[in-house]
Amino acid sequence: MVQSTSGDKGLKCKFCAGDFMPTEERCAEVLRELRWKDGVRCPRCHSKKVVKYGKWGQYCQRYRCDDCRCYFNDLTGTIFEGSKIDLREFIYAAKRLLEKESMNQISKELGRTYEAITRVRNLLSDALAKKLVSKLRGEVEIDETYLSAGQKGTKCAERAPRKRGLKLRGRGTYDKDKPPIVALVERDGGVVLKVAEELSREFILELLDEHVAKGSTAYTDDFPMYNELKGYEHHKLNRYSKKEYARGNVHINTAEGVFSLLKSWLRMLRGVRKDRLWRSLKLFEFRFNFRSLDPFDRLSALTGLIL
Ligand SMILES: [Zn+2]
Repeated sequence: MVQSTSGDKGLKCKFCAGDFMPTEERCAEVLRELRWKDGVRCPRCHSKKVVKYGKWGQYCQRYRCDDCRCYFNDLTGTIFEGSKIDLREFIYAAKRLLEKESMNQISKELGRTYEAITRVRNLLSDALAKKLVSKLRGEVEIDETYLSAGQKGTKCAERAPRKRGLKLRGRGTYDKDKPPIVALVERDGGVVLKVAEELSREFILELLDEHVAKGSTAYTDDFPMYNELKGYEHHKLNRYSKKEYARGNVHINTAEGVFSLLKSWLRMLRGVRKDRLWRSLKLFEFRFNFRSLDPFDRLSALTGLIL
């Protein structure tokens, strides 16, 4: 039997009150609280004229909308709808994924297949990609790093054997199985991470446009890609030309700190496929942006966000 993984003894998990596995009933209750915190609304027409209409399954409530006459339940339209695994297993897997546990280990703990846990991870990262939209402002550092990520786990006949031996020289590229990751890091704030299939100035400008408020201060090194960031107060570090690592407030140390955390997070996964790397980045991004919460509140925040 696996022991409780919650390291923080004084804290209580909303779902399981500190036990290894929450009950199905409690999970349904918490999801209901999180989803309908402003009252039950019809997912189709957003009407509040909704009446309870029996049960859905053992623990979920079913409703009828008086306006559009449709029927729905607590899980309709959420990522939990139609899940093959129990709610409690889903929540448990989400919790373990946030604790950086590997999917292999989680599948062993739950006695479920690796594919079932992969599905949970995919649903979570898909939902986060849609709903975890960060807009950074103030002082924002921009930097890139290169991670080794090939085609691990891909089953195809044409797959070339992985090259070992001498390390790749120079900057990595997506095609050479060393995809660049760009980080936008707000000092004392959130982070946005993106895999760049093609690292270019256009890519950076698009990313900034989407995620950084105009008028913010941008700190970068002197890699030509970062030249002329219009709309931002841009400070450049002469890293390549003069080996300058900090000049007063001008540095990208926060971004480097994020990369080092990210790399230790990915190490736990024992290798990632490059086309799925963004999924792990999304989970990392969530965990980092909600780092001030204790693990249990973080789990509730995750659940509330993806509902
Ligand atoms: Zn309706």
